[in-house]
Amino acid sequence: MRKPVEKSLGRFLLISLLILPNITYGLGQPGEGFLDYTIEVSFDIQASKIEGVATIPVKKGQEITLDKGELNLLYIMLDKEPQDITVQKGILRILSSREGMLHIGFEGVFKELSPGFPGEQPPSVISGRGIFLTGTWYPKPRQMCRYHLTATLPDGYEAVSEAETIKKTVNDGKPAFVFDFPHPLDSISLIATHRYKIVKDRFGRVEIFAYFFPEDLDLVKTYIEHAKHYLELYDHLIGSFPYKRFSIVENFLPTGYSMPTYTLLGQVVVRLPFIPETSLGHEILHQWFGNLVYIDYAKGNWAEGLTTFLADHLYQEEKGQGVEYRKGMLINYQSYVNEKNEFPLREFIGRTDEASEAIGYGKALMVFRMLKRMVGEERFSEAIRYFVDQNRYRKASWEDIRRAFEKFYQKDLGWFFSQWIDGKGLPDLHLVEVKVKPSGAKFEVSFTVIQKGRVFILDLPVAVYSHLGKATNVFHLQGEKEQLKMVVDDVPDRISVDEDYDVARMLSIDEFPPVIARLIGDEKRIIVLPPSGAEVYEQVVDGLKGERTSLSEPERIKYIEPGTSSLLILGADNPVVAKLYGSVIVRGGFGVLMKENPWNRWKVVGIFNARSKEEVEAAFQKIFHYGKYSAVSFDHGVNVYKEIDQSTRGITEELLGKAVAVEISTLKTLPDVMAYGASKKIIYVGEKHYLFPDHVMELEIIKDLHKRGRPIAIGMEMFQRPFQKVLDDYIGGKIDEAEFLKGTEYFKRWGFDYHLYRPILLYARSENIPVIALNIPQEVVDKVSRSGLDSLSEEERKWVPSQMDFSDEAYKERLKKVFQEHRDVENFKTSNFDFFYQAQILWDETMAESVDQFLRTHPQDQMVVLAGSGHLAYGSGIPKRTARRNGYDYTTILNNADLEKGIADVVLFPGAIPGVTSPMLMVFLREEAGKVEIAGFPQESASEKAGMKVGDTLLAIDHTPIRTIDDVKIDLLARKKGEKVRVRVLRKGFLGSREVNFDVVLP
Ligand SMILES: [Zn+2]
Repeated sequence: MRKPVEKSLGRFLLISLLILPNITYGLGQPGEGFLDYTIEVSFDIQASKIEGVATIPVKKGQEITLDKGELNLLYIMLDKEPQDITVQKGILRILSSREGMLHIGFEGVFKELSPGFPGEQPPSVISGRGIFLTGTWYPKPRQMCRYHLTATLPDGYEAVSEAETIKKTVNDGKPAFVFDFPHPLDSISLIATHRYKIVKDRFGRVEIFAYFFPEDLDLVKTYIEHAKHYLELYDHLIGSFPYKRFSIVENFLPTGYSMPTYTLLGQVVVRLPFIPETSLGHEILHQWFGNLVYIDYAKGNWAEGLTTFLADHLYQEEKGQGVEYRKGMLINYQSYVNEKNEFPLREFIGRTDEASEAIGYGKALMVFRMLKRMVGEERFSEAIRYFVDQNRYRKASWEDIRRAFEKFYQKDLGWFFSQWIDGKGLPDLHLVEVKVKPSGAKFEVSFTVIQKGRVFILDLPVAVYSHLGKATNVFHLQGEKEQLKMVVDDVPDRISVDEDYDVARMLSIDEFPPVIARLIGDEKRIIVLPPSGAEVYEQVVDGLKGERTSLSEPERIKYIEPGTSSLLILGADNPVVAKLYGSVIVRGGFGVLMKENPWNRWKVVGIFNARSKEEVEAAFQKIFHYGKYSAVSFDHGVNVYKEIDQSTRGITEELLGKAVAVEISTLKTLPDVMAYGASKKIIYVGEKHYLFPDHVMELEIIKDLHKRGRPIAIGMEMFQRPFQKVLDDYIGGKIDEAEFLKGTEYFKRWGFDYHLYRPILLYARSENIPVIALNIPQEVVDKVSRSGLDSLSEEERKWVPSQMDFSDEAYKERLKKVFQEHRDVENFKTSNFDFFYQAQILWDETMAESVDQFLRTHPQDQMVVLAGSGHLAYGSGIPKRTARRNGYDYTTILNNADLEKGIADVVLFPGAIPGVTSPMLMVFLREEAGKVEIAGFPQESASEKAGMKVGDTLLAIDHTPIRTIDDVKIDLLARKKGEKVRVRVLRKGFLGSREVNFDVVLP
């Protein structure tokens, strides 16, 4: 019953659905005796007043307990004798002195709150719009009753209550309705208005009525058709419809109730197009679960789970959407339920908030699904039919369900029910130690499933995919750690655990997309205010600030800090957005975009953006009903966009990589590639820095483009931004190569043999093609590697681009592998991966920003970007970051890269071309205070053989004076192997220093 009709209604609606007037505890079963209770009522609509008499036959010594609520009791008489009564806290106790008829006169006032009320509408209302009475609108016995209700109403009114028959008579000249329901009930309700139009139809022996308002009459046909469909469906599934009549009643209040013999849907609800296909069926199924078989609330509400399973979930299954639906339920559970608000299913009574809904509806439907998979489809249906049959007009509990299933399953199910109904939480499964090995002509996939926290007994489906298909198996788990294996025919490429969401379980992080529910459900939030215009978001702040929420100014958010909280960022132009994601687009007058927190994927970041305060006010409350989405947008309160981020299906792990095939007949050459690539605004070319052929390809591409006549520029990773002027001077012919290399500090800052890049720079200079320094100063990246972005001084921070996107998870994973592989081998500047990652992103973002800045000032130009393949592969390093800034089209060409899907547009395999390298002096040099000193010799050193010694200071090579190591490298650059040079050194001796000359043949 009382199902929150759908999540796209106003929030006020959900609140009104929380009221559970029928709940009473500790009632005896009807078999133990129930009251025969007659009520006669009449109304003064203008005064919102009800007047009535309740009549109950009693025996001598019988005690009756009644809730009086807000009612005014006029008299209590046994036959004609006034009775002594005690009233305590609204509870009335009557002990009858003898057998007779008890008469209670009562009156009550039930005013409607004015529209746009803040707060909850009371459960009962008598107003000019109509009469809706539920809860304590008559002295309500705390036990089940067989009710006989007669309501005298003003002219023109039509009324519905729980009734197998409704008789219309006349009482004092006014229409009176006599309702008869021949079974005991906890309580009854009454709805009446003067505006009902009644449409009658029939399904078999069941009369169907629609009580609709005149303006909604055109909806009646759809509702009745759907109602017939559901009656037929459940007739089959559960057993015949329990009553002679069934009414679909429109309410002037926003409700979604199901009472025995009728469902009461608010006008707002009735008009929603999806209700006939979803909630109507759910409410009709409650005619069996809740209305025919009552809920023993004191022992837990099983009815919502069972109804949701056989209504909402079944309809989704029929549409082929069962997997998504179940996964959505688990996403909700994990978003809203936490250690503090989690409770066992046994304690679910009704929905009070998102967490209780995730348990009482979501977890419960998963439990019924697991039960069905375990006992089998046929026995499940038999057990459900038996359960209904055995518990007609009786309060049933989870134990009754267990007994029904045990009867057909012929096995004890105590463990199942105590595990899922009495225990809190869901299993938390982890897939580890996944290995593949050949097994004869087949393959064996072995893996371990670990359960963290409470250990569950469960059946776990596992699928192993290969290019020829998939193999599946179901494993019976009962331990904390289970080692499992599957033998498959073909090369396995992926394993997926519970990919259909057959098990109620916690999701792995890859299955758990960033959705609005996660932000709503995470109490620990930081709300980041916009730099200005915070008043626009007032309602957002009020609506989402909780006890554990803090407010922050954008400049107080550090790079790593947000990892411990979820963030709610106000304004898409908030500097914190630029700091984490570069830039984002949030559509609509009011929109929410959810992202993973790049520093902790279990936390989320919600970016809220609004055009105006009015847009916020029109839409903000609605986001609570869009919890399953990662992005939503509204214009003037109307939803215009919604989307859920991709996530994996099942707990998955990649196994053996798929073999990649290249069709040889389609192999191309560089000119083919350029015929297509030359039209792009940006051409990225990736290299392995030390491979000469890669650089030959780069030059070929530059030449090809240049010959096409469009202005081009060359962007190079190898030069750092502060040295742009030196590059310009060299290209412009103002300085020579030696000055250029010294001026850019090439050997210190890049260091690879300059011969690798020399042909490119020479060509650029001869053709006057601008060369753009893309890179950030090395000192800044080094510092970030060591101690993170937050450690930079204000002076250093000016090199940090304002836009930084840390959200490329796949890139992060690849960098993590690089980090782990190289950490021990190479001299990494950090052992902290977060800092290493920050440094990488800083590097990439700077280069992307450099490309963008050049193209902004040179809109006609094309750009060839030369960088290490790592900065270009999959577009992750530079290309996507440039595209985020300017959207220009680009192509990526990598040299000698792995052939992997998406790695680049083209991979070139250049032929072996012998490169030029500089000859060497074969000395280790140390530079200090303007002097270059020999610090040592490698083995077989020509210089050592010539007579030079450690501690000698180099003065000149031939006629080139040597003051820096750069001088040595630049001099050697122009020389050839086998050439003889004269090296002049200053040698220290006992009698002072002296100059000595040595002739060296350069190896
Ligand atoms: Zn329900």
